[in-house]
Amino acid sequence: MPRVVLGRTEIAIHPLVFGSLPMGPLQAGLTPGEGARLLRHALERGINLIDSAELYGTYPHIREALREYRGEVFLATKTHADSAAEARRHVERALRELEVDRLDIVHLHGARLSDPFVERASVFEELLQLREEGKVRCLGLSSHYISAIKRAAVHPEIDVVHPLINRGGMGILDGSAEDMAGAIAEAAEAGKGVYAMKALAGGNLIGQARASFGYVLGLPGVHAVAVGMLSEGEINANLALFSGESPKEGIWKELESRRRRLRIMDRFCKGCGNCLPACASKAIAVKDGKATVDAGECILCGYCAAACPEFIIRVV
Ligand code: SF4
Ligand code: SF4
Repeated sequence: MPRVVLGRTEIAIHPLVFGSLPMGPLQAGLTPGEGARLLRHALERGINLIDSAELYGTYPHIREALREYRGEVFLATKTHADSAAEARRHVERALRELEVDRLDIVHLHGARLSDPFVERASVFEELLQLREEGKVRCLGLSSHYISAIKRAAVHPEIDVVHPLINRGGMGILDGSAEDMAGAIAEAAEAGKGVYAMKALAGGNLIGQARASFGYVLGLPGVHAVAVGMLSEGEINANLALFSGESPKEGIWKELESRRRRLRIMDRFCKGCGNCLPACASKAIAVKDGKATVDAGECILCGYCAAACPEFIIRVV
């Protein structure tokens, strides 16, 4: 079973990380039982890092999957808090809902922050305190910004980075895929663990999935890649690919023909604009009183869905 050590953390993981965002209420809306069955399938086949976030709403799915599971598993989550008190609430909620004493990785969820250590200084201080208290093992930064990954690379308290990278450069907010690849290499050289996100740009590159995963896995410094998966077939195909086994053409043809998209039930849209600031990719706009999405720019992250008070945005 392949294992890779995340930088200097001593956390040895399978290079395929289970991204839990798509199973949660922002996207596919699986029940905790349905999500748990998929997670268990993955864990029993060697995946051992599950990536979540306060925003994803997937702690019940993960808790259910871990019930009576005896294998080794690492848990990563993220806080988008903008105050120290809120960050503490997020970490304590994760501990409570996941029913664990310590979280392996907590990221500053800095997707849209170009300088998170300045813009979220008090949050980071609180995370350091939570690590001191033994509630968190390692601290990380998740980001869509090259500048932020470069800052994390030289930050002595950051153990892991979770950068957005894909071969189209979709969703990177301040440069190209090559620029982000350079920042990733710098972070890894500095001893940070690196697991990438959005290798398929939220599904936009699904038609070239194998080549897109190959690009990210081949980048110097990338230890692992988080992938959201919604079927056992998808998990099995990705496990084979990430283990270097020859891909099964039929399964991949089927997976690569699937497309996802953002659906806004515009009949119910109030045109309030709450979803606009949630979108770092500037893919959503309000026109004639209704929200519309530019599919060419959308990376299907689902953050706009979390910001909509009418609950009318879904990734389908
Ligand atoms: S429109 Fe929504 S799902 Fe698409 S990139 Fe923006 S926030 Fe993410
Ligand atoms: S937040 Fe929801 S209701 Fe408001 S503009 Fe966006 S989609 Fe429409």
